Amino acid sequence: MGLVELASDKSLWRGVDYCENKKVVSLKKEGFAGYQGRVSGSDNKVYDVHIDKEHPRKSTCTCPFAAGRRVICKHMIAVYFTAEPQAKEDFLVEVEQWEAEEEQRELEHYKDLEKYVKSLSKSELQVQLLDALINLEESRNYW
Ligand SMILES: [Zn+2]
Repeated sequence: MGLVELASDKSLWRGVDYCENKKVVSLKKEGFAGYQGRVSGSDNKVYDVHIDKEHPRKSTCTCPFAAGRRVICKHMIAVYFTAEPQAKEDFLVEVEQWEAEEEQRELEHYKDLEKYVKSLSKSELQVQLLDALINLEESRNYW
């Protein structure tokens, strides 16, 4: 798995943000699969980031979230996406495709629901509708 697959959604989107807002203040290639960079954080602190594409878990950052832990933080993602803009584009395209597929799945699900409802008799519909209304009311009270 790569850096993108190992990062949480939150770290990924914050990383995209940091990248687009040019928070990576220095960057240099290190070996054949690594980068060393400095990223300006939200509190005006600057963090030292090292990423290793071959062994993502060996990537390091001096921010409080990642220091001493084997996690992928937004600063690592920012360095990666700044160093390799194509990786960022690939990620965004993948998200777009996933969302389009999700929309398609939802549409198909609604079509199935419609088919199911149309297959019910009047008395079955009355039972189902009453159940649904009670559930709706209970969930309203809950919230
Ligand atoms: Zn960090």
